[in-house]
Amino acid sequence: MNGNLAANRVLLDELVGTVGRIPGVKSAVCPPYPYLAQVQQVLSGSGITWGAQDVSQFDSGAYTGEVSGAMLVDFGCRYVIVGHSERRTLFGDTSEIVAEKYAAALKSGLTPILCVGETLREREAGSTEAVVAAQLRAVLERNGVQSFAHAVIAYEPVWAIGTGKTATPEQAQAVHGFIRKSVAAKDVAVAERVQVLYGGSVKAGNAPELFAMPDIDGGLIGGASLDAQEFAKICKAASPAG
Ligand code: PEP
Repeated sequence: MNGNLAANRVLLDELVGTVGRIPGVKSAVCPPYPYLAQVQQVLSGSGITWGAQDVSQFDSGAYTGEVSGAMLVDFGCRYVIVGHSERRTLFGDTSEIVAEKYAAALKSGLTPILCVGETLREREAGSTEAVVAAQLRAVLERNGVQSFAHAVIAYEPVWAIGTGKTATPEQAQAVHGFIRKSVAAKDVAVAERVQVLYGGSVKAGNAPELFAMPDIDGGLIGGASLDAQEFAKICKAASPAG
């Protein structure tokens, strides 16, 4: 819940000039709903795609305050984030609701970016894999493994989001490897193809070492994406061209 029309305009214009055409990098911007029209207008034709930060599990009707997948498609969205830890902890999105939102996204033709991740307490209790496995299982049971051929997974340890504490590349790789293995247990081809992003205090300074890990395919960037230069450096770190 950051930004306003004027600040977004400056940020988006800078992104078009810096991030739009980095070789081998796909980038997308996910603003709050009211700014989707602005983002669509500024980013159309730029090489940067866009999406939303949440979607309703319902198609249409008397669901005041909700925004459907079809509405997001109307504004040219390609992606939608589902199951962000803030939605899970502050707004009651259970793993079952997240699985429904993921289904609604796919049904509308959107690519869901499914967020999973453990809290600090869960990590310290040694239950990181169990937590992530349960979050994945809810989506797998509802949508099937083939759905991951049309989705992105983002591993976001809750303790690293907006805190300045990044998982070490080794810590992140261990969970990314676990996620890919869990998908491979159902379908090897889908596991090889699914993109698994890391999120949690990614910055220009730590992006290269995170993105160098074999199962980290890119990043989900929060705070650092509000600074165009910083975001551009992170995107460049994801480029095979370096
Ligand atoms: C996020 O909000 O999902 C996130 C990863 O934020 P930050 O990059 O600021 O930690």
